[in-house]
Amino acid sequence: MSTYFRDYPDDNGFFGPYGGAFVDDGLKNEMKRIADAYIRISKSHDFITELRQIRKHFQGRPTPVYYCRNLSDRVGGRIYLKREDLNHSGAHKLNHCMGEVMLARYMGKKKVIAETGAGQHGVAMATAAAYFGMPCDIYMGEVDIAKQHPNVLRMKILGANVIPVTFGQRTLKEAVDAAFDAYLKDPDNILYCIGSVVGPHPFPMMVRDFQKVVGDEAREQFLEMTGELPDAVTACVGGGSNSIGIFCGFLDDKDVALYGVEPLGRGGNPGDHAASMTYGKPGILHGFRSYTLQNPDGTPMPVYSCASGLDYQSVGPEHAFLRDSGRVEYVTADDKEALHAFYELSRTEGIIPAIESSHAVAFACRYAKDHPRRAILVNLSGRGDKDIDYVFERYGLGEHL
Ligand SMILES: *Cc1c(COP(=O)(O)O)cnc(C)c1O
Repeated sequence: MSTYFRDYPDDNGFFGPYGGAFVDDGLKNEMKRIADAYIRISKSHDFITELRQIRKHFQGRPTPVYYCRNLSDRVGGRIYLKREDLNHSGAHKLNHCMGEVMLARYMGKKKVIAETGAGQHGVAMATAAAYFGMPCDIYMGEVDIAKQHPNVLRMKILGANVIPVTFGQRTLKEAVDAAFDAYLKDPDNILYCIGSVVGPHPFPMMVRDFQKVVGDEAREQFLEMTGELPDAVTACVGGGSNSIGIFCGFLDDKDVALYGVEPLGRGGNPGDHAASMTYGKPGILHGFRSYTLQNPDGTPMPVYSCASGLDYQSVGPEHAFLRDSGRVEYVTADDKEALHAFYELSRTEGIIPAIESSHAVAFACRYAKDHPRRAILVNLSGRGDKDIDYVFERYGLGEHL
């Protein structure tokens, strides 16, 4: 067993030059308290046992690995899916939200809060909070509230408080600011639960550790199914939590190629995509150092993708490190390729993927076509029910793609 997980991140939350906790002193102490509590709890037998029970009986884990016979026959190669769309609440996000709310309970917090853009993180948080009987405030821009009606209803039905953010552009960035303000007012009683492997240390490490279950399960399941390891593993990269989760299971297997897929949106011009590693450069945003898409004056660049879960100006620091080290290769898929894959998987296999996950499916199809003798495993991070109205409105039944 390699020492990778012992060495990275270091005690200050660095993966090589990336990561850290670039926050003011008040928040720095709070981050330290969270890190200490997490390290204690993650070694506790009771915590590990309870989390195992929750994963099995509440979340429905392990999620299956599935061989796409029809899709593989059509495009070539052998394409397999890790079915995180079958994880309770329909995506991988619940894996870390359950862990974060458990940590909040352990730390004696009275409330969990989070921001949400499209509402996916909000719904997963509301689900976890309901399970633990913990009050939950979700900050959401007014513009997003109007756009994401079904997710707003889901959060409310689950008992969460959806707090509209009414200043600035009234979208995700303002929701983050509002949630941070609320947190700073009462850090003793609140835990701010970050939605991906981003933010100041210890969040990138903690969220990775909670998502690692995906890769550990997938490696064992794939071996059992086929008697060998896949030639390649791929996942879409927004903040980077579902991808780091599956990659972690295979980091030590040097013969398994790892591919992270960034959203190329409408193309490579600034403002048309959210491919932070393909087009960005190192910088600090939201309390950590990583690749970022910034304007020449240092302000965050506007980003775009048809998948709202992928449009973020930065990426988890561990991905920046894995990219520089060469262990993971980062590639892109644009809106059109993702939409193609969305229809293709729906029609050949009867599985409607999230548009985010469709980016990884698109890359897998490309890889399979180029390598007809190889096997590629895709992390299907979520189901696409949330996307059907958006897709149908814009692309109909896909006739013109
Ligand atoms: C949020 C989301 C993503 C993107 O987040 P990561 O942290 O990059 O995994 C991907 N897929 C689905 C289904 C999501 O809901």
